[in-house]
Amino acid sequence: MAWWEDDLNDLLKFVAAENNFFLVGAVDTEKNIADQLSALEKLFQEKRIVGIKLYPGYQYFYPSDEKIFPIAKLCQKYDKPLVFHSGTTYSEQGGALFKYAHPICIDELAVKFPQCKIIISHFGFPYCMEAATVIYKNKNVFTDISGTIEKTDSKKNAKDVLAQYIADLRRIFSYYPHAKSKTMFGTDYSGENFSLCEITPYVKLVKQVFSKKEQDSVFHGLAERLFFGTQK
Ligand SMILES: [Zn+2]
Repeated sequence: MAWWEDDLNDLLKFVAAENNFFLVGAVDTEKNIADQLSALEKLFQEKRIVGIKLYPGYQYFYPSDEKIFPIAKLCQKYDKPLVFHSGTTYSEQGGALFKYAHPICIDELAVKFPQCKIIISHFGFPYCMEAATVIYKNKNVFTDISGTIEKTDSKKNAKDVLAQYIADLRRIFSYYPHAKSKTMFGTDYSGENFSLCEITPYVKLVKQVFSKKEQDSVFHGLAERLFFGTQK
C-alpha cells in the first residue's frame, strides 16, 4: 500500500457518505508525482475527486515548474480545476516561502495551459490586486474569497477585518469588474484540531460586494460550472 492510501481511503469513505461534500485531491510534489497521478486519475474516472490542490509555498516549487505540467495535463484531460494555495501561509509553518505562493507565479502556467482551469485560492491574500490582474488576463484563471477572515478573540478586530476585506474587494473590482464573475464563495478553514467557525462574515461580504444577480454565481453557479461542468 502506498504511503498516502490509508488517509485517503478514510476521507473517500467519509465523503461518499455525505451528499453535499466533494473532495479535491492533492499531490505531494516532493514525492513521486507519476505514482500519485495514476492514483488520482483513477479517482477522476470514478468521479470521487473533483479537482487537485497544490501547495507551492509549503513545498518550494513554482507553479510554472515543469514537474507541474503532468498535473495540469491531468486536470485538463478531466476538465477539473487545478487549485493553488496562494498568498499567505499558515503562521505556524514558519518554513513556507511566499515567493512560490505569489499569485503572479500562476500567470506562466495559465498561459502554457490555456485549457486547464486554474484557481488562485484565498484571492491570493494579501496579494489580492495581483491575483485579480492574473485572473483578468487569463480566461482560465479563477479565485475564491476563503481564508482571510479567521476566528479572533476580539469582536472589534473581526469586524474591522470584514470591513477592510469588503473595502479591498470593492477597490479591486472597480479596476477589474470582470473578476467578479470569476470569484467563488469560501469560508475560513477547518483542520484536525479546529473546526470551521466563520461562515456568516463571508456571507455578509458577498451580499455587500456583489449584486443580487452576481451572488448566484459567487455562492454556487461558478463552483458548479468549474467542478461539475454544469450550471444549475
Ligand atoms: Zn489553501
